[in-house]
Amino acid sequence: MNILVTGGMGYIGSHTCVELLQAGHTPIILDNLYNSNLAVLDNIAEITGKTPVFVQGDIRCRETLDGLFAQHKIDAVIHFAALKAVAESVQKPLEYYDCNVTGTLVLLQAMQAAGCNTLVFSSSATVYGSENQVPFCEDMPVGTATNPYGSTKIMMERILQDMAVANPDWKISLLRYFNPVGAHPSGKLGEDPNGIPNNLMPIICRVAQGKMEELLITGNDYDTPDGTGVRDYIHVVDLALGHLKALDKVVQTPGCSIHNLGTGKGLSVLELVQAFEKASGITLPRRFAPRRPGDIAESYANVDRAARELGWQAKHSSAEEICQDVWRFLTKSNKR
Ligand code: NAD
Ligand code: UDP
Repeated sequence: MNILVTGGMGYIGSHTCVELLQAGHTPIILDNLYNSNLAVLDNIAEITGKTPVFVQGDIRCRETLDGLFAQHKIDAVIHFAALKAVAESVQKPLEYYDCNVTGTLVLLQAMQAAGCNTLVFSSSATVYGSENQVPFCEDMPVGTATNPYGSTKIMMERILQDMAVANPDWKISLLRYFNPVGAHPSGKLGEDPNGIPNNLMPIICRVAQGKMEELLITGNDYDTPDGTGVRDYIHVVDLALGHLKALDKVVQTPGCSIHNLGTGKGLSVLELVQAFEKASGITLPRRFAPRRPGDIAESYANVDRAARELGWQAKHSSAEEICQDVWRFLTKSNKR
């Protein structure tokens, strides 16, 4: 299939493009390079032996989108492009609503005009909010967002569900990612955010690289086995493979479906730090700090629906494999 991949130069998008190419699909990447760089294209090509079509442009530009749909016979869209930094979204709500919500609306309008009605959308476990109990299940009501980033995901899910009701021939897959981590086993692709990272794994990497002085473990008084926050860390290659399974399913399933992509198991901050130290041989300077505002104690998925309906489950997401792959990416790509 010809797949328009918005945000395909980013962390999850680039890994998904590799899996799409290796499965014989044709990704067409649209990315404005706000949080990625051109070298990713070479790295995708080195891994797969194929260079995908890449257009540098913005999802909010209708002209660019119309041009892409006119030029390529696009069978489906995987929509990754978004701004995703939680803390930044509190400072810059307008930018976040504009990029994420307006961008999605423009994309949907262009899809409708072009007669393309199959979409896989990057949602997030953040939509469960703090009201639900773990493990989070797809049929739970969505929670209340504690920041504009989370609000954009809740809004976009709602918009897409409304689209599917109004247009029964649309086929939409909402994928709720838990905590994506890890890197391609080749060491050629991984998470390399522009600017100051917010998430635990990129911060661990910066500390290991000596680019940040120490890791602040934000909260050690949660009601969890060791007091630190628990999350469901999913290897980015597992996540990428989940998109292929979702794509296979969505093309034959009108309506809007929702699937969690996680491992079903929680890992604490300390457990992840220890696994990273073992894989890298580096002792990370760290200390305990107060909880981050808006954080919940635990987040992990119920993954039964993805297993049952998509035939997908995480296979590469042990803490050991995740940290070994991240370490290989840091060392091999000379990012140390
Ligand atoms: P990323 O920032 O690495 O990738 C996003 C890509 O989209 C970047 O290459 C960026 O340049 C591009 N982009 C941003 N705005 C754009 C625009 N207006 N037009 C064109 N391109 C644009 O992020 P990621 O981690 O790969 O996340 C991909 C998707 O998954 C996002 O929608 C994100 O919200 C969602 N998600 C990510 C996580 C996570 O922790 N990484 C968790 C849950 C959901
Ligand atoms: N965390 C931490 N120090 C940091 C960043 C995050 O201890 O500098 C903790 C955070 O409190 C949470 C876990 O790591 O328990 C995962 O945080 P992340 O931001 O990666 O994911 P999210 O909280 O959005 O699921």
